[in-house]
Amino acid sequence: MRILVISDVHANLPALEAVLEDAGTVDAVWCLGDLVDYGPDPNECVDLIRQQPNLVCLLGNHDAAVLGRLDLSFFNREASLSVHWTQQALREDARQFLEGLPERVVLGTNTLVHGSPRNPLWEYLLDLSVVASNFAYFDTAYCLVGHTHIPVIFYYNGEQIEWIIPKDGETVDLKIPAIANPGSIGQPRDRDSRAAYAIFDPDAGTWEFHRVVYPIEAVQERILKAGLPAYHARRLSEGV
Ligand code: ZN
Repeated sequence: MRILVISDVHANLPALEAVLEDAGTVDAVWCLGDLVDYGPDPNECVDLIRQQPNLVCLLGNHDAAVLGRLDLSFFNREASLSVHWTQQALREDARQFLEGLPERVVLGTNTLVHGSPRNPLWEYLLDLSVVASNFAYFDTAYCLVGHTHIPVIFYYNGEQIEWIIPKDGETVDLKIPAIANPGSIGQPRDRDSRAAYAIFDPDAGTWEFHRVVYPIEAVQERILKAGLPAYHARRLSEGV
């Protein structure tokens, strides 16, 4: 079983294409939210994601913002500019696809959310005490999350959090329970500019982590040309 687990595409089509090509044939694609916003290709990313086999796609906080479900005062100036741009650019059928996305999905041994099992849209799993308390909010073997744009695997034995930051090409035999984050496709923030993804086999309990280069400069040019905030272009080269 090869499940491609991706998150935080953020309307970056070249990064998404590079990951799909690198991953090759898979049995299913699980996309953990934030398909749109920041990048210049929201419609094309929705179109390409919809074609994926056995797709499970979740709603992220940026998707919800673009759908007008969130108060934009929680976003900084650049982020709300980008939300407005995406609202204008999004085709009606792409908007409807986002409208139908769930916030939480339980599939066999797996719970899928964007942010955290306690607060699927908003909570960031960065602080270790926050991570520890979230282990009480799912009862499957694995919980898959995105949102922080940082690839990581967390374990909790009831006392301590242990974490692993997998390297490119590394396969991790997951312990149970685990919270796993594949990192971000379109806006990495772990000081590595390459797009990140994982190939997950829930039956074998393996998590194979990968990084892929993609034409960053072409995306940066298109972000600027579209009139989207320059900051969202600049940070792509540094992965911050
Ligand atoms: Zn995101």
